[in-house]
Amino acid sequence: MQPEQPPPAGRLQRIRERLPLWSVQALLFLDMKNIRYLTGFTGSDGALYIGPDCRVLLVDGRYITQARAEAGGFEVHQYQSKMDGLVDVISRHGRGVIGFEAETMTVATWTALKERLPGLAFLPLRQELEALRAVKDEEEIARIREAAAIAAQAFSAVLERLRPGMTEREIAADLDYAIRRGGAQEVSFPTIVASGANSALPHAWPQDRTVRPGDMLTIDFGAVFEGYHSDETCTFVLGRADAKQERVYQVVKEAHDRAIEAIRAGVACRAIDSAARSWIEGQGFGESFTHGTGHGVGLDVHEYPRLAAQSEAVLEAGMVVTVEPGVYLPGLWGVRIEDLVVVQKDGCAVLSKIPKEFRIIEI
Ligand code: ZN
Ligand code: ZN
Repeated sequence: MQPEQPPPAGRLQRIRERLPLWSVQALLFLDMKNIRYLTGFTGSDGALYIGPDCRVLLVDGRYITQARAEAGGFEVHQYQSKMDGLVDVISRHGRGVIGFEAETMTVATWTALKERLPGLAFLPLRQELEALRAVKDEEEIARIREAAAIAAQAFSAVLERLRPGMTEREIAADLDYAIRRGGAQEVSFPTIVASGANSALPHAWPQDRTVRPGDMLTIDFGAVFEGYHSDETCTFVLGRADAKQERVYQVVKEAHDRAIEAIRAGVACRAIDSAARSWIEGQGFGESFTHGTGHGVGLDVHEYPRLAAQSEAVLEAGMVVTVEPGVYLPGLWGVRIEDLVVVQKDGCAVLSKIPKEFRIIEI
């Protein structure tokens, strides 16, 4: 793997400055995305310990060469068992209260750490850490933009090859292959290709159902480029559309447009959800919009913040979020339209590429 630029030192600095605010003396990270964000290490297993005067990346023997190459400026500690490694490093450097990611550490690890390091206190941090990666810098945005471009190019090629009689599974496999061939590390998540009644399931798995004229076809897909994800959903009608299909599509499209229109720095995430949801409710489809309007995207495909009615978060310039309202009519079909945007001071810029106007695809 080509070593990437090391992460900007400001990230670690920002974290260190907040230790007193959170009443901790050190931080233990087990989330590999957070570890990558702070150190540059791209391996799939390890731990990171950050104290006021130490920064130690812990890895097993498989990753030692990679860790030394990627995580410049970090002490690299090799372990045979992760728990023994944690106890070694923490007992050497640790004092006082050690904060950790509440969402990542298992009860088993927490119990073992408390047993083996009885002089120390471990404090779960939640909101404090979940926003860590929310605001993206220019380089991160460029990677997400490239991921979206790779995905869109693959998608357009697959659309050209679409024929009646193809199954959802075949279309999904074709798209996954095209995304990988186009330069992505991997796909962002298992590609959703849902036709006909399957499209009424927001998280449908591709089935052996063959696509045919008159079908609604929803494809939710993304690419990973240098660790960063894209996420986009297109819904089309195949061959011919009935009036209800077009009407519901336009309702969802208008909700999508209203949400995007409302996005700018300083606006509450729940206000974006409400911009989409109140329109859909007003059109009589409120009960058919069964999920949040969007989510943050970056090193994870779903990350902070959520654009949902219960969200307490406020948009900041540099956040990258999806806008994806949907209406699902069980037994009939569903429509979801998803774009990826970067929040700016006075608005937002759309990073995903495929036009979202109502479209009938000839097959
Ligand atoms: Zn999606
Ligand atoms: Zn999404």
